[in-house]
Amino acid sequence: MSRLRSAMLKGKRAGLEMVESAKPTRKRAKKAETLNAPSPSSSYHTFHDPADVLLLRSRLLGWYHKEKRELPWRTLAVTESDLNIRTYAVWVSEIMLQQTQVVTVIDYYNKWMKRWPTVQDLSAATLEEVNQMWAGLGYYSRGRRLHEGAQKVVSELRGQMPHTVDGLLKQLPGVGRYTAAAVGSIALGQVTGAVDGNVIRVLCRLRAIGADSTSPAVTEALWSQANTLVDPERPGDFNQAMMELGARVCTPKGPLCSRCPVQSHCRSFHKVHVKQEENSRKLLGKPSTLPDIEDCVNSETCPLCPSEPWDEELGVQNFPRKPAKKPPRVERTLTCVVIRPGEEREDEYLLTQRPNKGLLAGLWEFPSLLQGEKSSAMKEKKTLCTQISGILGTHLTESLFQYVGEVVHIFSHIHQTYVVHSVRLKDGDTQTQAENAQWLTRSALQEAAVSTGVKKIVKLCDSVDSQKEQTSKGGKRQKPIGTKNNKNQQTSKKQKLSAADSRQLSLSAFFNSVKQES
Ligand code: SF4
Ligand code: ZN
Repeated sequence: MSRLRSAMLKGKRAGLEMVESAKPTRKRAKKAETLNAPSPSSSYHTFHDPADVLLLRSRLLGWYHKEKRELPWRTLAVTESDLNIRTYAVWVSEIMLQQTQVVTVIDYYNKWMKRWPTVQDLSAATLEEVNQMWAGLGYYSRGRRLHEGAQKVVSELRGQMPHTVDGLLKQLPGVGRYTAAAVGSIALGQVTGAVDGNVIRVLCRLRAIGADSTSPAVTEALWSQANTLVDPERPGDFNQAMMELGARVCTPKGPLCSRCPVQSHCRSFHKVHVKQEENSRKLLGKPSTLPDIEDCVNSETCPLCPSEPWDEELGVQNFPRKPAKKPPRVERTLTCVVIRPGEEREDEYLLTQRPNKGLLAGLWEFPSLLQGEKSSAMKEKKTLCTQISGILGTHLTESLFQYVGEVVHIFSHIHQTYVVHSVRLKDGDTQTQAENAQWLTRSALQEAAVSTGVKKIVKLCDSVDSQKEQTSKGGKRQKPIGTKNNKNQQTSKKQKLSAADSRQLSLSAFFNSVKQES
């Protein structure tokens, strides 16, 4: 683009922005004041040429038509003629896809839609059933919100899903700006852009937006660009194509620019290409034949330009920039696998239910206790003994408690270490006094709404038991696979563990018998 044309376009865009900025919302105006930064007067970060926008749409949609993955929710969005079911189906998929990868979601989605094909079916389910279905997907509040939303649709909206982006946003719990826009465009054909993590990356690279991608100025700029670009004839396909491009071509690391259908519209690609040409010409001592890199005219004060210097090695990955991540909170939780002899000699496990709000709300777990600070092994055992005695309304002795090992589970914001003990009870000690506590057989436990952390603890117990079995056969003790045993505890407890082997072996025998039966 010639400098003259570029300057003209910049002037034109500046004029347009003056018109736009004449009627900003109060919220936007306040944000701009807070940021104390002028809005970008450069067209560098926007799509200002209608012909360019048309071409980009057609290239992207052409690529999507050929390359898109067939996914169950995409199929439903096209084949389901009932608007209410279609909206429900896309809503479920969008909630499942938040924070979870497509490959993981497919199976859960198919099972969910088979069991609850309509919003009415979901509203009639219990939260327990929903949690059970959601087990393993993580971020459990999502399932709960879907359930709450379905009940609201049935009880307050006469069973009709909202028909507009605004309605979805205001009437469904857990539906934010992105989800409302995605469901609205895909299921209802509403003309709106939709900006998720993939789209943020694509747009930041296309328009060389390098400021903190979570800042209000960047967020507003991205939504504005997405609304400019979206195809009014096929808004759902367009938004899905942008997401697909971000997931498969314009990936966080190693983007496949050579296969990108919108490469010629990409400012960051152009910038990298020109810089590379310049560098190789300089090396050869030749004058540059390429035009100057078009750049933001207000880069010093622009709220969308990067504040950090260009990193040659990163190339297009200079965009987008994220703020430094906070390190996860470190937590330590004491947990105990309590076993009693059940009917017909089938062992049963004590589970307690988590509170209905907060992390892993409403899920079942082995009795657990969050530790403030790490304390001695003896003290930890004493604490657990008191807690389990309280749940059972009996007095247990600490010597019954066996240290099993440690399990690490990473949540998005918590680095959790479960310190696992086990205890095997006799018949008389097993009446639960606490509400929200129940005994489950191993097979019922596998079906129950439990978190991934609980599954890892079961795996640890399996692993320790099979090691013990091998040891008893081979006569030599080995460190259990996949466990992070406390060395001191292990050494000092060796004697006690050996003495308890007969009790622990029956747990192993049970696990094995379940495996053989299934
Ligand atoms: Fe992303 Fe590269 Fe395509 Fe630009 S050219 S949009 S950086 S894949
Ligand atoms: Zn800029």
